Amino acid sequence: MNAAFRLAALRERLEGRTHAALAVTCPANVAYITGFERVFDDEEAHAAVVTTDIAVLYTDTRYFSAASSAAQGTEWEVRVAKESVFTSVCADLASAGVGWLGLETSMSYGRFDAVSAQFEGTVEPTDNWVEEIRQVKTAEEIERIAAAQRLTDVAFEHVLGIVKRGMTEVDVALELEFFMRREGSEGVAFAPIVASGPNSALPHAKVTDRVLGEGDFLKLDFGARVDGYCADMTRTIVIGQASERHREIYDAVLAANVAGIDAVRPGLPGKSIDAAARSVIEARGLGEFFGHGLGHGVGMEVHELPSVGPRGVKDIPAGSVITIEPGVYVPGFGGVRIEDLVVVEEAGARVLTSSPKGIIEL
Ligand code: ZN
Ligand code: ZN
Repeated sequence: MNAAFRLAALRERLEGRTHAALAVTCPANVAYITGFERVFDDEEAHAAVVTTDIAVLYTDTRYFSAASSAAQGTEWEVRVAKESVFTSVCADLASAGVGWLGLETSMSYGRFDAVSAQFEGTVEPTDNWVEEIRQVKTAEEIERIAAAQRLTDVAFEHVLGIVKRGMTEVDVALELEFFMRREGSEGVAFAPIVASGPNSALPHAKVTDRVLGEGDFLKLDFGARVDGYCADMTRTIVIGQASERHREIYDAVLAANVAGIDAVRPGLPGKSIDAAARSVIEARGLGEFFGHGLGHGVGMEVHELPSVGPRGVKDIPAGSVITIEPGVYVPGFGGVRIEDLVVVEEAGARVLTSSPKGIIEL
């Protein structure tokens, strides 16, 4: 993917500082800012160092060959760090006369402290510089997310055909994961959540060997990953016949999901979209059972900017991809979450999720 404009956007953040460099170390940010594909994993083994006129990736021998091939035709130079990555970075920056170094706040405190001791100049934490650029997706990035979501939708349809009483949560989770991977998902976007009965009242339940039984809510939250980009969807179904209580909770969450999607506009703070959905659940007397934020950005990571919760004070930019995922969780009984993935466009939300949202009884 052409990443030249990403570098230009990052350099704007360095303007006004002289002899300054930023070292990008968060693995997703390194992959994004270099634009190198199928080179990096989750290991924090690199530093992508950017100044107004150079862009150098410091890595180790394990990644050198793949990174060098990916760098062909780009502005990036790839260097193998001799000792630790930052020993090389600090030595090179000192000889280049760089006196200010920005480090990402995602770096561990211990590492930040060690680099500060090593660098001959000022070291400062930088917050979300690359993450803020990542919020706004290109058409190519959106197509990758849409492809991941299409695969997620197909997996849901597949699993609806096999879920039955007597299966365990683990059985369902394995089926989802195996299906997505066999159909082309790179691993999974995150470990699927499969939560039944009272477990469904835990928003981020761990998968257990609980057996699915009559009257259970079954909450499925999962996503595929395609070409480095994630999908994220939640659907909740009822095992057996839905009772009045099931329907009351389900209808409230569905109405909130629809209200949240309708409220999406670029330039609104995340908390306004959150409020539009939350007020629907509150009006039905279920507000105390919806504790988490309405949604989050999705891209190379399953949770990224922008924030779409009560504390989301920043405006949501056009071109971002966010989830709308209200939930109602009644302790001891069960919970419902309905999560869709949407692109924020000038006209409002374009929904990427195509799985049905009406109550499903199996
Ligand atoms: Zn989810
Ligand atoms: Zn989510």
